[in-house]
Amino acid sequence: MKHNTKIDLEKFSKYSKPGPRYTSYPTALEFSDKFSYDKYISYLQNGKGPLSIYIHLPFCRSACYFCGCNVVFTSKEEKLSRYIEYLKKEIDILAEHIDTNREVIQFHFGGGTPTYYKAFELDEIMKHLKKRFTNWSSEAEVSVEIDPRFFNRDQMIVFAKHGFNRISFGVQDFDPAVQKEIHRVQPYDITKQAVDLAREFDIESINTDLIYGLPYQSLDSFKNTLQLARSLDPDRLAVFNYAHVPWLKKTMRKFDETTIPSPEVKLNILQYTIDYLTSEGYEMIGMDHFAKPEDELFGAISKGELHRNFQGYTTKGGANLIGIGLTSIGEGKRYYAQNTKDMHIYEKAIESGKLPFERGIELSDDDIIRKSVIMELMANFAVDIKRVEEEFDINFAEYFSDALKALEEFEDVNLLKITKESIKVEPTGTLLIRNIAMPFDAYMNKYAGSKKSFSKTV
Ligand code: SF4
Repeated sequence: MKHNTKIDLEKFSKYSKPGPRYTSYPTALEFSDKFSYDKYISYLQNGKGPLSIYIHLPFCRSACYFCGCNVVFTSKEEKLSRYIEYLKKEIDILAEHIDTNREVIQFHFGGGTPTYYKAFELDEIMKHLKKRFTNWSSEAEVSVEIDPRFFNRDQMIVFAKHGFNRISFGVQDFDPAVQKEIHRVQPYDITKQAVDLAREFDIESINTDLIYGLPYQSLDSFKNTLQLARSLDPDRLAVFNYAHVPWLKKTMRKFDETTIPSPEVKLNILQYTIDYLTSEGYEMIGMDHFAKPEDELFGAISKGELHRNFQGYTTKGGANLIGIGLTSIGEGKRYYAQNTKDMHIYEKAIESGKLPFERGIELSDDDIIRKSVIMELMANFAVDIKRVEEEFDINFAEYFSDALKALEEFEDVNLLKITKESIKVEPTGTLLIRNIAMPFDAYMNKYAGSKKSFSKTV
């Protein structure tokens, strides 16, 4: 999609309000223990089709203050190795409940800092997983998040051996003042060496993650960050809007909030980012990703096959996601299931021969319809109304009369177009895609007026 976006700051600032990022629908706030362990097991036992496996390695040496991930900070090696033993047992228990011949088409190591583990430990986890899950597609997307400050050749050799073909490097910002404030000092040269190492091993897709909206960032400082990121020539760039949720994450309270850029500055940064990266030959994909036109994500948009899940955007949308490790989330057509966040409970569950499942949600028919619309909007910036009507046997205009009414305000200012066949979000409207998806969310009313539910959309 070509972005001739010119942001009208006044118009956009008024949309700066709390809203979900829709990595799931319903959002994780709706997960509860009403979705029982037995139900989850029966979904695993009856599941069919391809698998996407996620393993969470939660450990980090020290806190980056902006971080919203589920992290355990430690410098004790025995903690890391102990966790591997439990992970292996969790994989064994899982294998008792799932058809392990199902094809694995996607795998992701997330964290924490996966490369806080030594090469032989990463190898041990992968070998154990492959011993249980034996049917890996030759086309599988195998990816890992890497902190360039913790990355060496031995680890890269292990990743190459196990067929990793996608690496995401965490950068956030190159400005020394910003890096100091966010407690993540990572000189450019370290990132460059990490990217060069991955290139040496012919990694198919190299991604760099940046964040805008961090303390002390300005348009000028971010321009420089973008140029440095561009000089690494990544295949994809993710440029995330910083989610400031200090009521959930204590380390975010360390920021002097007056140094966080205003919505106006953030929008200027976003506008510049879009203009700069598109002028450099990247295309905007979904809410916060940019990719080279030859990237498969870009091809997927035109075919309406781009999907969104917990790891971002993907072309492998139909797979049943299995989450392994502390806090990880699994997703099936009719459910989400999340593991416990508490290490002690995690270990106890596994010792008793159970999966460390804690909570989740079984989707109602209404949830499934709304999920389909929201995810299509988030991924493809459009809704094919006819498809939704045929797939779910509903009259779209009647079923979503409230949502369509709420979208009139966006239509009035040309941020989207609604016809009988489709909803199409205009390039400028894509910047407000979270706001545009919210009217389809049946749970939003519960959080109306609550400032402490989600991060701000702008
Ligand atoms: S940003 Fe990455 S390295 Fe930093 S605390 Fe979060 S998970 Fe750990």
